[in-house]
Amino acid sequence: MAYNIADIAKTLKIKSVTYPEYNISHLLTDSREVFNPEETLFFALKTKNNNGHKYVEELYKLGIRNFVVDSLAPEWETLTDVNFLLVKNTLQALQAVSTFHRDHFNVPVIAVTGSNGKTIVKEWIYQLLGSERRITRSPRSYNSQIGVPLSVWQMNENTELGLFEAGISMPNEMAKLQRIIQPTIGVFTNIGDAHQENFKSLKQKCLEKLELFINCDVIICEEGNPLLDECMTSACLSQKRFTWSYNLRSSSPLLIQSVDRTDTVSYITYSFLGLPFTIELPFVDDASIENVTSAIAVALYLTTSIEIIQRKVRQLEPVAMRLDVRQGKNQNIIVNDTYNSDINSLKIALSFLGQQATEDSQKKTLILSDILQSGYSDEALYRSVLDSARAANVEKIIGVGKHISKQQQIFENIPHAFFETTEEFIESGIWNDFHAETILLKGSRSFEFERIAELIEQKTHETVLDINLDAIVHNFKFYRSRLNPETKMICMVKADAYGSGSVEVAKMLQYHKCDYFAVAVAEEGSLLRKSGIKTPIIVLNPEVGGFNQLFESYLEPEVYNFRILDAFIREAQRRGISDFPIHIKMDTGMHRLGFTEEDLPRLVERLLSQKALRVVSTFSHLAASESWAFDEFTTGQISTFKKLAAALQQGLDYPIWKHILNSAGIERFPEEQMDMVRLGISQYGVSASGLSGLRNVCTLRTTILQIKHIEAGETVGYGRKGKVEHDSDIATLRIGYADGLSRQFGNGAGHVLVKDKLVPFVGNICMDLSMIDVTGLDVKEGDPVIIFGDSLSVTDLAKTINTIPYEILTSVSSRVKRIYFRE
Ligand SMILES: *Cc1c(COP(=O)(O)O)cnc(C)c1O
Repeated sequence: MAYNIADIAKTLKIKSVTYPEYNISHLLTDSREVFNPEETLFFALKTKNNNGHKYVEELYKLGIRNFVVDSLAPEWETLTDVNFLLVKNTLQALQAVSTFHRDHFNVPVIAVTGSNGKTIVKEWIYQLLGSERRITRSPRSYNSQIGVPLSVWQMNENTELGLFEAGISMPNEMAKLQRIIQPTIGVFTNIGDAHQENFKSLKQKCLEKLELFINCDVIICEEGNPLLDECMTSACLSQKRFTWSYNLRSSSPLLIQSVDRTDTVSYITYSFLGLPFTIELPFVDDASIENVTSAIAVALYLTTSIEIIQRKVRQLEPVAMRLDVRQGKNQNIIVNDTYNSDINSLKIALSFLGQQATEDSQKKTLILSDILQSGYSDEALYRSVLDSARAANVEKIIGVGKHISKQQQIFENIPHAFFETTEEFIESGIWNDFHAETILLKGSRSFEFERIAELIEQKTHETVLDINLDAIVHNFKFYRSRLNPETKMICMVKADAYGSGSVEVAKMLQYHKCDYFAVAVAEEGSLLRKSGIKTPIIVLNPEVGGFNQLFESYLEPEVYNFRILDAFIREAQRRGISDFPIHIKMDTGMHRLGFTEEDLPRLVERLLSQKALRVVSTFSHLAASESWAFDEFTTGQISTFKKLAAALQQGLDYPIWKHILNSAGIERFPEEQMDMVRLGISQYGVSASGLSGLRNVCTLRTTILQIKHIEAGETVGYGRKGKVEHDSDIATLRIGYADGLSRQFGNGAGHVLVKDKLVPFVGNICMDLSMIDVTGLDVKEGDPVIIFGDSLSVTDLAKTINTIPYEILTSVSSRVKRIYFRE
């Protein structure tokens, strides 16, 4: 659906536009996701971390001609054929335009809110009802003040039912979402204590959530939760409830009579208005039972037959929200998106694909199954697939399925191949020819694309380091928001990004516009350049032997003494280079590298006497910024640095940036942020000073190879160190010190997590294996074991063997496979 820009302007109370001939079919808030620019309206949003007004010129160059802004910049005056819709608040404008769109529809709209399970309940409602009606739903977890208007905008002529998620983190947000979604059917999943920090009480939060439902015909929820029942009564919503309950004496229309479970399936017997029926759910956890009950209640309210519900529940698919990035065979990179295949999630995955393949030579390939239940005609649907793929620079499309194969003519101008089934694709063997490509694998569940993944992925042993890229971004933004907007951030990706993989991490942070990277040695910097990193890179410990790489890859060296300075000037002059960027290190108490006060006059003189190098910044490193006990020393270092930096600045005839804070420094001395800060370990989720609010990034996991019953008195492992006092079950893990598991964890010093229980190591850690005591636990061979992760922190682990988290993270050896994912 498209609207004339003049009509949209009217909605925003703007009387006229200069160029009224434009039609708008796309709303854009993220400057990196341009698609169909002629019909796009860009909203320059101001968030904690960014300001959309910065991207107007860049977007103009890409062909966008319509912008909603809150002020006009003088440099935009030269832009022609462009409409600027000037408003007070661009977010409110986005919401108003979406509301305007919503007003055109008179179809039922379901809104799902609650503390947990929103996305799963939404997706399961979709799976239960999707073949009966054409549903427009929120992509992934788009449930925020920005995500909701973008989701509602997806409604179109074909929509028979809207299905949207709404989430809040602050008071007064829900009323706004209510006006945009205008739901007629409300679903409340449950109330928990997530997002508590901004609310006075759980009751306040619950009442706020209920505002979503003020104009609903019905609210579907559990009966018997005292808080929810009380809030419903206070909000005068009790009369509109359609409830379910575990309490057989309640008057709810839907009652859970019993639940029986096997290892993989639950059988739930309900009674609906007195009629019993049983469903078979392919999940056994309590949360799934609660979530499916909400979804079933919605289906029953919409008069879906019990037979259909029974059939659909049996086929319910898990809602995977991860985008995995894996190393493939033949230098391929595989982005595996097992999320339901639909056009919106395809666009999101394609944009992620773009970030993963920043290297220009890396070809992009899309392997896509039929998209089921889209609500569009096949022709329109696959044309839109082609447009999205083109916009993401995909160079080859492989379609799997009858529907996409029928539409091959649409793809005739792009290299392609089509197969009716996954089996046919596998048998064709064409996947053997993939080489150095970034491959997006995106299939509906029934196409079992995991079979393709298995063929093209590189196999290594099953000890894996999982890296949560979203957590890295969260941590980056967390610090970004604590700093002045002008302060530049240097992200430390030395030591392979503290073990998590410098290329993938740097790509993600470059996408989120970090200002600088720092690595330890020139090779690390060259590797980043080869992978398409364009952001400036500092090399902290350059050696005279590595100069070639510095110049060729445009890496900016830290200069820490006269030897390196003179050698570098000579080499730059020999190459006829001028103004090559360098960073001057001062020693203020670490006594490792750096110039001192006595060096300053000579340093200034040397720098002024040449044109080959230009100082970009000067900095120093704190020796004990995390420790309260040394605060006097730290503040002494800071004031020494200020003195040295000021003297250097005075000597030079151009401005230079100054910086001293590392992670703990940022946390504890934010007033000393100066021009830049250097974010290290905290980026990876470990706060050096114990600050809360960071998210864990890395999880090291392995599996159990064998379990043995050992009698009292026997010993386990080398040197007969692990004496078994009682009869025990001993499990052998496929991880050893060659994987980075320190030998010091052996003989009971360290623990791992098995089924959420802490379990000690027995005997010495071996090179490739290690043993743990699993006596009394219900475990079997092949079960997963966590070495560190969300519930066993690197910090705690480090303490058990008297080291620091830095060492644990950077020790994970290169043979451990890294898997990157986004939530
Ligand atoms: C490693 C390093 C940092 C980052 O330190 P964290 O404690 O990990 O934040 C900052 N500056 C320099 C010079 C470094 O070598």
